[in-house]
Amino acid sequence: MRTMELVVLGAGSILPRRDFGCAGYALISPSDEFILFDCGPGSLRALGQAGLELSNLRAVVLSHYHPDHCLDLFALAFARRNPEFEPKPIEILGPAGLLRVMAGAEQAFGRWVRDPHSKLREVDLDGSGRGQTNLGNFQLSCVRTGHNPEALAWRADCPDGSSFAYSGDTPAEARVADLAQGADLFVCECSFPDDQASEGHLSPTSAAEMGRRSGCVQLLLSHFYPSMDPEVARAEVAKLCTNRVMAARDGMRLPLRV
Ligand SMILES: [Zn+2]
Ligand SMILES: [Zn+2]
Repeated sequence: MRTMELVVLGAGSILPRRDFGCAGYALISPSDEFILFDCGPGSLRALGQAGLELSNLRAVVLSHYHPDHCLDLFALAFARRNPEFEPKPIEILGPAGLLRVMAGAEQAFGRWVRDPHSKLREVDLDGSGRGQTNLGNFQLSCVRTGHNPEALAWRADCPDGSSFAYSGDTPAEARVADLAQGADLFVCECSFPDDQASEGHLSPTSAAEMGRRSGCVQLLLSHFYPSMDPEVARAEVAKLCTNRVMAARDGMRLPLRV
């Protein structure tokens, strides 16, 4: 029987690196329908590489509006307007700023990036920077990460009871680990080596702390800058926590549940 799966579309950063594209993750249902978490440049190409049909896309969920996480939104809108494509309605969900970003794109590129079959929705947050909403049969939760003013981490509780969490870009924040509490699969950024740690991102020591605190079953490290060797990241994090630790690769496909 098929189960929920994740395909990594891009495990890298904005800096060019062989085989490591910008952020994008497809959460795939047994029916082949999928939700895209982030849509960085190259995500559309990576969908093709992974054999995913654009017609099965149901929603895009965005973490923040740094270009490495959202630029292919405009390519997506243009693709969905192509006469060869029959668009079904989709929802694009993101933090505050989504409407501004899409309006700005239309100013830059014209009406070609306005998709009449996409519903844009900015998620509401409470006073503590947390939000909850439904996307079809999925329950989504999010929390501000502090990486930049709008950045969110997301969690999806799936119809079959499995769960997925995605840190987006984040500094070491307990609330992000708490969002991923007990998740079957937690995609957690691990941008830089410890000796080059950056304020708004994680490195192996802080990513391990996030994994430990979350108690997730599988910790999938990702968002590697060129200075971060994925295998070194995996080995260092695995020394510090008891979760099953893996390093993401573009094109990797794995079940949420093991
Ligand atoms: Zn960012
Ligand atoms: Zn990023």
